[in-house]
Amino acid sequence: RFISFEGGEGSGKSTQLRRLAARLSAQDVVVITTREPGGTPGAEDIRSLLVEGEPGRWDGRVEALLVNAARADHVARLIRPALAESKWVLCDRYVHSTLAYQGAARGLDEAELRRLHAFATGDLWPDLTIVLDVDPALGLARAAGRAGGEARFEGEPPAFHNAVRERFLSFPDVTVIPSHATVDDVTDRVWTVVAERFGL
Ligand code: C5P
Repeated sequence: RFISFEGGEGSGKSTQLRRLAARLSAQDVVVITTREPGGTPGAEDIRSLLVEGEPGRWDGRVEALLVNAARADHVARLIRPALAESKWVLCDRYVHSTLAYQGAARGLDEAELRRLHAFATGDLWPDLTIVLDVDPALGLARAAGRAGGEARFEGEPPAFHNAVRERFLSFPDVTVIPSHATVDDVTDRVWTVVAERFGL
C-alpha cells in the first residue's frame, strides 16, 4: 500500500504521517515513512538545491524537473522496492504537490506535468492520497513558528498559497481532511479513512 500526505505549509502532514505510521506498526503492519522532495541520499541532495538558496532561484520548469529527478531516484531506489516487499509506504508529499505547486501555482501545464511524472516514475500513483486542508494564513503562521523550518515559501504572495490550496481541494482522487481541529482529532479522522479504505 502506498499512501501520500499532501497539504500546504503548516498543514500538519509530517505529524499525522508519523502518527499513522505508529498506529499501523502497532497493528503489525510493516511500514516505512519517507518524504519528497527527498527520501533517498540522491534525492535529498536535489532537495537541498530546491529549498536552499534565495527564493526564486529556479523558475517553475527547472523546479518541475528537479522535483521529478528527485522522485525518479526515490521511486526506483526506495518506494518500488519497499512495495515489492509488501511494505506500506507513507510519503510526505508526492505527485499532487507537483501538480499544485508547479502546476496551479507556478502555471505549468498540468498535462505536461503528468507526462513528466509518468516518465520519472513509470507512472506510479498512490493507492490513497490524504490532503490536510488548512487556511494558508494559519498554516504559514504554524510553519513559521516551528524550529528548523526550511520551506521556500517566504516571499510567495497569498495568491500563490491560495492557488495551491484550491488545486489540492479540487483533485478527484484525494480524500480531504480539515486540519484546523486539534491534532488528536485529525489523527482520528486519518485513521478512520485509512481503516475504511484498507479494511483494517
Ligand atoms: O513539505 P515540506 O515543508 O517538506 O516542503 C518543502 C518545500 O518545498 C515547501 O516550501 C514546499 O512548498 C516546496 N515544494 C514545492 N514543490 C513541490 C514540493 C515541495 O515547491 N513539488
